[in-house]
Amino acid sequence: MVNITGSTQLLGVMGYPIEHSLSPALHNAALFSRAVALASAEFKSAEFKSAEPELEYIYLPLKVAPEHLGAALQGMMATGWRGFNVTIPHKQAVMPYLQQISPLAEAVGAVNTVWREGEAWAGTNTDVHGFLAPLQAYEVNWSAVDACVLGGGGAARAVVVACAQLGCRSVRVVGRDRAKLEPLQHSLGVSLKTLGLDTPLSIAEWQDLDQYLPQAGLLVNTTPIGMYPKVGESPLSSERIERLPLRAIVYDLIYTPRPTKLLADAQALGYRVLDGLEMLIHQGAAAFEIWVGEPPSIAAMRQAAIAQLQPSPKA
Ligand code: NAP
Repeated sequence: MVNITGSTQLLGVMGYPIEHSLSPALHNAALFSRAVALASAEFKSAEFKSAEPELEYIYLPLKVAPEHLGAALQGMMATGWRGFNVTIPHKQAVMPYLQQISPLAEAVGAVNTVWREGEAWAGTNTDVHGFLAPLQAYEVNWSAVDACVLGGGGAARAVVVACAQLGCRSVRVVGRDRAKLEPLQHSLGVSLKTLGLDTPLSIAEWQDLDQYLPQAGLLVNTTPIGMYPKVGESPLSSERIERLPLRAIVYDLIYTPRPTKLLADAQALGYRVLDGLEMLIHQGAAAFEIWVGEPPSIAAMRQAAIAQLQPSPKA
């Protein structure tokens, strides 16, 4: 038994819809594991009061329709919330309600983590950190890597900033609509400059992709192609994947299914692969650290996420 008391602080994730978010499972697992560790330390000390761990924080799903976003933030300020994550469709819409925004979130153009600073809200973007965390496991000379990003939506913006931070030699965004790609290139180009990054950023359309694949040492899928339930789809055929250089890393932001067809095909061809689960976990871990002031148990978060993704046993 873990106790929620009058001093338990409120955290959450705001989205619309929110029912399928894994974040409550991830964060509560880390918060419960922290509460148990604190109680066990107390049990061994002279300060021992109760055998039941008290939850210092709890993390809740918040279904907030776009037209209620301002009212929700006002209510959360009035009721003392410590902070919250922001997901689709509020990542850009929340920005005008915040009194402080980190330069990184300004550069990405989206906020996914908000916390209280006195009577004000501050926001940042932890998707960049989440994307980069699993790449640290690879020993790569990033300055010799050209990154190729498939898709040009919200996640792609964080990925482009992350690839530039990583020190990639160049970043190319591949999309299906030139009318969207050109403004994206312009605004991201300005963003990279404000962060002091001079990584060359180019755009391309899908039909021209074949000529760029042989240079792409890092290929990132940020489109939803291949996501459950359309698990038989892939943004790239095996023939196209084979055009990548031998040591390329293929990174798919999708984590349902695990692996996606893209990653299964790439792995079968001998490429190094990463799915989006670690990104999800590490963006959450960075948010946790902002709110709680210490890092969470990544193992607890990972275990909860994997359990949540498993199909439930038939009744
Ligand atoms: P988004 O803003 O809607 O962008 C999706 C992009 O994919 C758009 O550029 C869209 O092109 C393109 N696209 C969609 N369907 C396509 C198709 N059939 N062919 C070619 N391009 C297509 O979505 P997002 O927020 O960037 O998220 C993208 C994916 O990343 C989702 O699968 C999401 O679950 C995943 N994600 C994962 C994490 C994580 O932590 N692992 C975090 C964020 C996002 P148009 O603009 O032309 O429509």
